Amino acid sequence: MKISARIASSRPLATTAMHGRVETLRNEGRPVIDFSIAISHFPAPRVVLDAVAGVIERQRTLPYTSVVGELRLRRHLLAKLRSENGLEADSGEIIVTNGAKQALYEALYVTSDPGDGVLIFKPHWPAYVATAQLLGLRPILADLPDEITEEGLAALEPARIVIINNPHNPTGKVYTRRELECIRDWVARTGARVIVDESYEHLVFEGRQTSLAALCDWRGIGVVTIFSASQSYAMMGWRIGFALAPAEVVQAMQTLQGPITAAAPHLSQVAADAAFASGASPAMLADYRARRDLAVDLFAGTPWIVMHAPDSGPYLWGDVRGLTLDSAGFAEALLEAKQVAVLPGEALGAPGFIRLGYISDDVATLRDGIRRIVEFGDAYAAKSKK
Ligand code: PMP
Repeated sequence: MKISARIASSRPLATTAMHGRVETLRNEGRPVIDFSIAISHFPAPRVVLDAVAGVIERQRTLPYTSVVGELRLRRHLLAKLRSENGLEADSGEIIVTNGAKQALYEALYVTSDPGDGVLIFKPHWPAYVATAQLLGLRPILADLPDEITEEGLAALEPARIVIINNPHNPTGKVYTRRELECIRDWVARTGARVIVDESYEHLVFEGRQTSLAALCDWRGIGVVTIFSASQSYAMMGWRIGFALAPAEVVQAMQTLQGPITAAAPHLSQVAADAAFASGASPAMLADYRARRDLAVDLFAGTPWIVMHAPDSGPYLWGDVRGLTLDSAGFAEALLEAKQVAVLPGEALGAPGFIRLGYISDDVATLRDGIRRIVEFGDAYAAKSKK
């Protein structure tokens, strides 16, 4: 059947495509270690499972809830925003979505028109560019500097919308208050709207991240802030995200979400309620920190890769430009030769880098996978010298 021109030029997300390749190889009996995404090895918290089990046992599952999510859940999320993020809002300014991904799609959809420019810092999470393209928007890619400054921002091409990912996938950068103030002043001057994705807010290893919205008149400037249960509570499969936005934006998102998915599933809302009420797990964060340190240590002294310990998040971001700019070729050959999957930087707008999710497997597998990468890279380096 003929596929519409609208979608025909789009490709599946690089992360989805790599995941598919890993599945195929595993089905062929090849034992692949998958570092290409970061799926927590932790199960969803006990309180979450108990809350859901209780609702099932009492046969209290609801049919459709209100599209924006159950009022009780939204009230609890507002309390979370107040205590964790320093944000005051009311129940008309929040919408529960099927994951942060849906919130991102809807937020972009309702704040832009086809052809508008969307500023995205690179390296970037692949879905930002993919979503902008699906909506007929024009991604404007700019290098993410080590430090955001007024001068740096002033030099950028003006855009209708700016996407900020704080904490940042894949580098782990946590924006400082000063940087966020620069962004705030710049968007107030240029009139750009801002979408801030804070999906990794609970995976900061030292201190806390600051919400841009807490530093500004987010209703006046037009800031949409997106949150997710996926990474904070190891709940990717429950598909719960939510957005804080000016009431008219939330209303428009509701109009869009109604005919597509309606509300997020009721049981997932119950799960999210329990998760956000219990708060993020210090034990999980400590486990991730220990793995991060181990993984960085295992790469130490490897001459062909520059690997810094990230300040947040479940990824290592390795600079292999000294070895090759063709990180896609490197990742492909690595997968073939050593059955280890990493995400090549090309997928994130940064050739010459590789991204490794380090929270998915047991520690022995993490060690084994990194050993195989180092072996492969050493041989690759030796070959390219010849
Ligand atoms: N934002 C970022 C930056 C991500 O890396 C991801 C994927 N983990 C998401 C959002 C997706 O979140 P969700 O599972 O809630 O759709």
